[in-house]
Amino acid sequence: MSEESYLFYQSRNPRPFLDRGEGIYLFDESGKRYIDGSSGAMVSNIGHSNPRVLEKIKAQMDRATFGYRLHFRTHPSEDLAAKTVAMTPDGLDRVFFVSGGSEAVESAVKLARQYALTQGQSDRYKVISRFPSYHGCTFGALDLTGYDPLREPFAPMLEGMPKIAAPATYLDRDNLSEEARGLKYAELLRDKILAEGPDSVLAFLMEPVGGASTGALVAPDSYYGRIREICDEFGVLLIYDEVMTGAGRTGKFLAAEHWGITPDIVVLSKGFGAGYVPLGAVVAGKRLVEPILDAGGFAHGFTYAGNPLACAAGLAVLEELEDQNLIANAATMGVVLMDELRALMDRYPFIGDVRGKGLLTAFELVSDRDTMEPLEPRLNAYDRLVELAYERGLIIYSRRTRGGTAGDHFLIAPPLIITEAQIAELMSILRDSLDAFAAEVGLPLEVAA
Ligand code: PLP
Repeated sequence: MSEESYLFYQSRNPRPFLDRGEGIYLFDESGKRYIDGSSGAMVSNIGHSNPRVLEKIKAQMDRATFGYRLHFRTHPSEDLAAKTVAMTPDGLDRVFFVSGGSEAVESAVKLARQYALTQGQSDRYKVISRFPSYHGCTFGALDLTGYDPLREPFAPMLEGMPKIAAPATYLDRDNLSEEARGLKYAELLRDKILAEGPDSVLAFLMEPVGGASTGALVAPDSYYGRIREICDEFGVLLIYDEVMTGAGRTGKFLAAEHWGITPDIVVLSKGFGAGYVPLGAVVAGKRLVEPILDAGGFAHGFTYAGNPLACAAGLAVLEELEDQNLIANAATMGVVLMDELRALMDRYPFIGDVRGKGLLTAFELVSDRDTMEPLEPRLNAYDRLVELAYERGLIIYSRRTRGGTAGDHFLIAPPLIITEAQIAELMSILRDSLDAFAAEVGLPLEVAA
């Protein structure tokens, strides 16, 4: 085969060829083993090559891989919808399938809009979201995304939906309690709704635990309930983007459950198909969906939506989550991992913050822990540490962004099947990589007494 690659993605791809996956590990063609410390892009929640899931996918392949949803109902799609409803909080009881996260976000927004129309609220069209945030890269989802490097090339083509600051309280140097800080950030939504004109605001979209753009940002508890109240006050629909957090990643099926919140609409993808097939879902209450169906139906849909092969895989993934008790494992192992990451702060003064929920965790590198001043961009920390870990057989996920400034954060989000011994293995490679990074760029080790 020629050396030239005819493929292109974000950049040229210097990576080795993938050979196979097994549990939390991936192997390249030379036989080198990698711990998948970020589940790919926070996708492979049940680990790689799960034999029971593969068996169920093959069984469905032998029956039918595709039956268009307007021509047939299928058992896999009906069963996956029923299972999804059973696993989500009461009040979320209708499901619309898609093939990925961006599609799910856009579908949720269009569902919200059509619901508003059934209520005679045709002026409602603005969707408020947060900055930083990531909701996808198709035009609609990108407009709701607060991440400049991805927005800038397309800025003139975006509508410019309103944004409020994400609750990055770890950067605040005020004297407020965490509870007061949470409320302070929630009030930003109220202010924005009033500034935009409450009758024009359709929905508020948020990641309950931030993903790639913020590095596992968790808001103070007070934030979540107050946001729900503000949405209710103005009849604004609350959409939770659980593309990354959903399907057990944070130690509950939905992250919303940590705070007892029932959003009006939830979107799922990554862990929902868990890397076995492209799959996503919009889950909403029938109080939203029924009026739309009564009024003639949802004016939206994708060709591959709800295909039986993807749904059989999704169902097998959810069954695996249950049978192996993986959501509880994510909660337990999340505590172990978080303790280990916090302990790094004793050795590495350049780790400024450790945060997360369940097995969605992150740490952030800074030049000064007190001021949270970021590392100099020329150090390219977000790239170098990932490379040093990769060389040592550990895959982690990084981004450089923090509000408007440059900050390097790293997501550690292994498959939910991970064991305590495997976390120790992961941490040992991570410490090695941090040591190598510190030596390379001349950062001190050990926090001065
Ligand atoms: N929403 C969130 C929270 C995400 O993390 C992502 C992907 O990273 C998306 C939406 C977009 O999903 P996709 O890349 O499948 O379109």
